Amino acid sequence: MQQLIDQFPQAVKTDVSLAPYSWWKIGGTADGFIEIQSQEQLVQVVRVLKTQSIRWCLIGRGTNLLFDDAGFRGCVLRLGNGMAQMRFQQNKLTVQAGCWTPAVALAAARRGLSGIEHTIGIPASLGGLICMNGGSQRKGIGDIVETVTALSQGGELVVYPRSECDFSYRHSRFHMGDEIAVAATLKFIAHRPYEEQRPVLLGILRERNRKFPRKLPSCGSVFKSSPELYEAYGPPGKVIEDMGFKGQRRGNIEVSARHANFIVNNGGGSSVEVLSLVREIMQTVHAKTGIVMQPEFRYLHPEKGIVEIS
Ligand SMILES: Cc1cc2nc3c(=O)[nH]c(=O)nc-3n(C[C@H](O)[C@H](O)[C@H](O)COP(=O)(O)OP(=O)(O)OC[C@H]3O[C@@H](n4cnc5c(N)ncnc54)[C@H](O)[C@@H]3O)c2cc1C
Repeated sequence: MQQLIDQFPQAVKTDVSLAPYSWWKIGGTADGFIEIQSQEQLVQVVRVLKTQSIRWCLIGRGTNLLFDDAGFRGCVLRLGNGMAQMRFQQNKLTVQAGCWTPAVALAAARRGLSGIEHTIGIPASLGGLICMNGGSQRKGIGDIVETVTALSQGGELVVYPRSECDFSYRHSRFHMGDEIAVAATLKFIAHRPYEEQRPVLLGILRERNRKFPRKLPSCGSVFKSSPELYEAYGPPGKVIEDMGFKGQRRGNIEVSARHANFIVNNGGGSSVEVLSLVREIMQTVHAKTGIVMQPEFRYLHPEKGIVEIS
């Protein structure tokens, strides 16, 4: 870590609490933390991290991440406001990965470009949204991605066409964590005046406010929907509710009484409590249905980086 501090003395912060960077408001301290302000800085920092074999992890807005109570023994990179530019050209938008997704959706709508309305209520960075192929109403951002510019494993900037992004339900090639989406070009196929889109956007936000617990810290939906589970038992929220978990608590962590596929932090909750509740739900659902539910959120292990929860 010292080599990194020596090379970027202004940028590297040490012993930074991760809780404020997590939507769940959970997490201990990271040894190092850098708010990246430009593509050039990102390239240079990653080069040093790789040559010095320093453990690192990239985060967006932390809306789909569980940080451990023990924090992270490495350096966390977060794309800052310096990486949040948007450039429209006719029916295309080139957008940097640090952009706030609802702002992108609104800017597109104001130009009469349609196709991204479903993301208006998702509190993500555009890079995080691309990594997760996030979306709502059975859509994913990958549907309108034309290209993604990424920092490759080898440290070069490469442009991937959509066909090479490996988009599928809540998944993309960026899931592996060794490539960083730096910017994307989105291609809109439909034109629709803003006056027509505005009520649609407001309707989506109203519906989300009605259905989801918005006031308490969470990670959005905890479990992915699966066709197998859906067909036999319904969506994850219904299954979890039917198994009696709604309102169940582990310390300060609770299965939301509003929507059982949300786990909320009532204040002071820990990663141990979240993982214990998540595992109990997975084991119970498996025992009763034979189906293993997959968590949608990602867990940052203090020493192993992002790992699958089992
Ligand atoms: C209240 C609430 C509602 C939500 N509703 C929805 C919803 O409707 N639909 C939906 O799909 N999701 C939803 N989510 C989940 C979450 O917002 C999405 O998964 C989102 O895409 C995560 O973006 P982020 O910037 O917060 O990424 P983070 O949570 O910070 O990171 C998630 C993953 O993306 C990786 N990542 C981040 N940036 C980049 C990048 N530039 N390049 C490569 N990898 C990157 C990280 O390493 C990590 O593995 C919701 C979450 C909350 C809290």
